[in-house]
Amino acid sequence: MAEGGSTKAMNENVPVYEHVEVNTKAFHIGSFRDLWLSVLKPEDYCFNQTDSEVEDAEFIETMGITPDTLQELKTICSPESLRCHPADEDPDPDDIPADTQLATLKLRKKRLDYKKSLSRDGVGRHDAYANELEMLTLGRRTEDTTDIIPEGEIVLTFNVIYPILFKRFKHVRAYQTLHILGSQNLTELRDSICCVSDLQVFGEFSNTPDMVPQFISKDHYKSAFFYFEGIFYNDMRFPECRDISKVTRDWAKTRREFPEFKTAKMEETTFSDLRMKVGYPYLYCHQGDCEHVLILTDVRMVHRDDCLDRKLYPLLSHKHRVVTRKCCVCHLYISRWITTNDALAPSDPCLYCDQCFRLLHYDQHGNKLGDFQAYAYVDPGAFN
Ligand SMILES: [Zn+2]
Ligand SMILES: [Zn+2]
Repeated sequence: MAEGGSTKAMNENVPVYEHVEVNTKAFHIGSFRDLWLSVLKPEDYCFNQTDSEVEDAEFIETMGITPDTLQELKTICSPESLRCHPADEDPDPDDIPADTQLATLKLRKKRLDYKKSLSRDGVGRHDAYANELEMLTLGRRTEDTTDIIPEGEIVLTFNVIYPILFKRFKHVRAYQTLHILGSQNLTELRDSICCVSDLQVFGEFSNTPDMVPQFISKDHYKSAFFYFEGIFYNDMRFPECRDISKVTRDWAKTRREFPEFKTAKMEETTFSDLRMKVGYPYLYCHQGDCEHVLILTDVRMVHRDDCLDRKLYPLLSHKHRVVTRKCCVCHLYISRWITTNDALAPSDPCLYCDQCFRLLHYDQHGNKLGDFQAYAYVDPGAFN
């Protein structure tokens, strides 16, 4: 196709494994897309479904068969042929008659009855919704033609791992799966990552528990960066944003083993501009030191069955439900306070609901009992 240097440049952007089944070598996302576009025919990635008649005719021609053979093939290969009975007569395998003499069926009935006794009403509500997330957007199109994703666009899938908040809450490592288009800016991914540190209220309030202010960290500390392949992409959209990667870069300058890191602006970079590895852990950092591992798990062309409404991207397809942390006293309500150096607490740090916190730590006149520090606590389950 091309010769010399350009062939080399082309090959560099075909992803190959760096570590087998773990991650690929870095490649340029936009060039990878162009490579696909250069080898695919427009009808391969267009969003209009080919008519089944046209498809049949093409199949007959490609395979060199007669229309009768095609018809026969369709009947033989149909999933209907796998049934023992016609669809409307299929007996329910779980419907076992009470007076059965067969030992295996008796066992099965016992097992099924036991299973039924375990199920409680309403347990699956969240799960039902979580699965729906994916179904809701499947094949979704938009009325407004200006919002339709152009054909030949690519979509990237990211897994976002939540930060480990405290060592003793090590098991809290939920994640989100987000799909984003190659032409979208890094800031659009940033804005769709939800993290409880954005909702925190900073300050120690053990002396004034009624004075917890309403503003949250997100409104005050807007700086953040992504780190991809030697470049820190800083969010600089607002005047109060700072380059919080500077500390790391300055530190790296004093060590010989690190290369010189570059910086770029998040809001001026699209995903197609990036060089990335699939499967490799990258970093998203915000609120000073809240760090999330970010893994690109897939890069592919947008398919006609995908959600084609550009406005809905970045598209959330999975969200891990976090177990809410209950108050250490009543084990009933979701925690709203976290204390440290607290002689009354069974652990350090310790979580309380509002009511138990006040009853345990203040007398009837609102005077603080003992010495401790108290901070407002936002439960990660807030995003469930
Ligand atoms: Zn965070
Ligand atoms: Zn409580």
